Formats: sequence, structure tokens, C-alpha cells
Amino acid sequence: MLPKSKKADTTTSVITNGTLNLLRFYDKREVNILSTAHDDTMVATGKTNPVTREPIVKLHAVADYNKFMGAVDRSDQMVSFNSFRRRTLKWWKKAFFHMFMLAVLNSYLLHKCSVAAAEALSHRLFRRDLAMQLVAWAPITMTCTIKDVGDTVILRLTARHFPSLIPAKDNSKIKNPQQNCIVCSEPNARKRTRYQCSSCEVGLCPDQCFELFHTRKDYRRCLKRKLTESPAPADSPIQG
Ligand SMILES: [Zn+2]
Ligand SMILES: [Zn+2]
Repeated sequence: MLPKSKKADTTTSVITNGTLNLLRFYDKREVNILSTAHDDTMVATGKTNPVTREPIVKLHAVADYNKFMGAVDRSDQMVSFNSFRRRTLKWWKKAFFHMFMLAVLNSYLLHKCSVAAAEALSHRLFRRDLAMQLVAWAPITMTCTIKDVGDTVILRLTARHFPSLIPAKDNSKIKNPQQNCIVCSEPNARKRTRYQCSSCEVGLCPDQCFELFHTRKDYRRCLKRKLTESPAPADSPIQG
């Protein structure tokens, strides 16, 4: 690390590892710049000091920063307009999606360059078309009977459902097969049941889990609320 610059120090310190240069100078406050393309070369700004009449110079790195930073801000702004901000604590996911968004933005800018202005799509429509093309290409199989998506949820909550025993498979030695209950089973605490809803093709405990699954959209949260709200069953017999 460089030692802290003194206030009156107007020279630029440079530290380098051969590829990356750290430039430090003092301009009202301490300024540090990391660059792979700049050393401490100064360039004229085209202005002169009104008192001394000497030409004003600044670091080439600072001149380039001022020249191109607006474009970086604009790029970040364009990405942010259409960004899908999924909250995540994983830094690498944020970095990945930011770079993914930049790639999408760059492809949109290339699209604008490659067609006449009147034919260019808006940024939003370009992204929609891109998303549809990516989805059309992806080998997705529609096997979402359990997931809470659109029609499946409506069917789960409205159609007719009856509990039945999970049938034994042909040639299987297991006479009484069981499945995890979709409502009360946790990844680290499985709850096995012999019953299922044959319409939904999921394992369900025949009492409250079956009812919750077919009456509540967010059945897992309802179950948790029920378990925390209802008092523990009394051990002592009812008196009276
Ligand atoms: Zn069902
Ligand atoms: Zn259950």
C-alpha cells in the first residue's frame, strides 16, 4: 500500500505490478485510480490558469475517465431499466447476472447498428424476443403437476379430489408403498404417508394435509401457521 499523501503533495505516485497501475494524487482530496492502460502521463486540458497563465494539465487517466464515464453510467442505466433484480446474497450471482445483462445490452446495441432506425426494436421488445427464442431453444419438458403455476393451482383448488391408497407397483416387493407428504415433509425431515391424491399424483397425509393442499394456495405456510397457533394437545382427560 502507498503511504497516505500529504495535502500539499501535487505529484502523482504510481505503483504497479507490471499489468495494473495504481495512480494516487491529490486534487482537493486524495484520488486513487486503478488502470491497466494509463501511467502518470499528463495531458493538456486546453485551459489556462487565469492567474499564472500556465496551461492546465491533468492525468491522461483522469481525462479518459471524464470522457468515457458518461457512457458507463448510461450503460448501467439502460441495464437497470429492464433488470430482473432477484434478491440474492451470493455475490457471484449478482456479478453473473450483471455481466449477462451487459451482454444482452451489447447485443441490442449491435442490433440497432445493423438495421435501419425505423426497423429497430425497442429495448424491451428486443429482450422479449430474445427471451422467447432462448426458451424455444431450451429442452423444457412440461412436468409441473406440483408447482404452483397458473392452471395447475386452479385445478388443485377447485377440481374434485379424493384420497386413495398409493397402489403397489407391479413386480414390486413393497406391499404398502409410501410417499413423502407434499405438505408436511421437509427436506431434512421426511413425513411418509400411504395416501395420495390420484388426480394430483402427490403423497398426502389423509387428514389436514389433504385438506390444506386442496384449499390453500400457500399450503406450506398455512400448515406452519396452524402448528404454531394451535395449542399442544392436552394430555389430561377432559374433566366435567
Ligand atoms: Zn388433488
Ligand atoms: Zn402431511
